[in-house]
Amino acid sequence: MGEGASKDMAEDCVFCRIVRGELPSQKVWESDKVLAFRDIHPVAPVHVLVIPKEHIAGIEGAREDHASLLGELLLAAQNVAEKEGLKDGYRLVINQGTHGRQTVAHLHLHVLGGRLLGAMG
Ligand code: 5GP
Ligand code: ZN
Repeated sequence: MGEGASKDMAEDCVFCRIVRGELPSQKVWESDKVLAFRDIHPVAPVHVLVIPKEHIAGIEGAREDHASLLGELLLAAQNVAEKEGLKDGYRLVINQGTHGRQTVAHLHLHVLGGRLLGAMG
């Protein structure tokens, strides 16, 4: 995919619009490259989405040169968990594609906690 195509997709992308401040969000944590905000339809008492500010369509869209950004996403999730007081643990989830039930094509990590979560699958 060329850079132009990626930019066109990012134009309408709901998470890019949140990053640009065109749509409201409940921000939990932010750095230069990463934003964390509350999921609009939480499935746990704490349900926060951690995203790169750069548009990456999903974990499948990440490249070698995104390695440090991917690390920052994980560390951001750790910060969110601490800030939200998830001292008894939490779960980090990345959904990819149809079988993964990914619904927003902008890479995001779910931080889920605040109750004992069900088994995976
Ligand atoms: P996915 O299923 O792609 O892994 O997760 C996408 C998540 O984004 C869903 O949990 C959904 O509730 C959340 N979401 C979709 N649109 C918005 C929005 O406009 N604002 C917020 N805060 N969350 C959203
Ligand atoms: Zn986007």
